[in-house]
Amino acid sequence: MKVLLVEDDPSIAASLVEGLQANGFTVTHVSTGAGALSAPAVDVVLLDIGLPDMDGFDVCRQIRKSSMVPIILLTARSEELDRVVGLELGADDYVTKPFGFRELVARIRAVTRRAGMADSVVSGPIDLGSLSIDERTRRALLDGEELQLTTKEFDLLVYLAAEPGVVHRRTDILEHVWDVNWYGPTKTLDAHIAALRKKLGNPEWIQAVRGVGFRLEVQS
Ligand code: CA
Repeated sequence: MKVLLVEDDPSIAASLVEGLQANGFTVTHVSTGAGALSAPAVDVVLLDIGLPDMDGFDVCRQIRKSSMVPIILLTARSEELDRVVGLELGADDYVTKPFGFRELVARIRAVTRRAGMADSVVSGPIDLGSLSIDERTRRALLDGEELQLTTKEFDLLVYLAAEPGVVHRRTDILEHVWDVNWYGPTKTLDAHIAALRKKLGNPEWIQAVRGVGFRLEVQS
């Protein structure tokens, strides 16, 4: 599996490269945003937000213009807002520095497994009025316009849309859409819900049920 590591801190980069290689990953390391955008295709991108030449968010946005490769953000502890913005811009997940190496590898395996799974899942299109979702093509159309969704946003939408009106518990959503072994912060879910609502153009599509979870309600 090929990893692109975008990290300007030499000591963090060196230990990550070493650890990833020891775990069987092939690592391309660049220390700038420009380097990231001209790097060859990989299976997953680890992206630091604070880069010397450009903002990691801009790098994320640029990558998303041409690729749905899984992106994991490497963020600093206090940057809660950064994570939300990053997920809205198309990142699939994030880890907070300082992070454990095993956690990082687990996240890499989870996002790449989901990206790979997308190719093998076959079921018919889901039609919900103005919204139509096709798992085979990984496309969601709203009023005939394709929604630009990240891997996880799409999976989340499919999960909720499979049973419109049914309330799904937060833990069930996290287990099904993220990973059976996911025990991370549920803020990740909230960030993805917020991003999906924004892209759907009407927050009523995904309704929060206080203390329980979320349900999808078809909007005309
Ligand atoms: Ca940095």
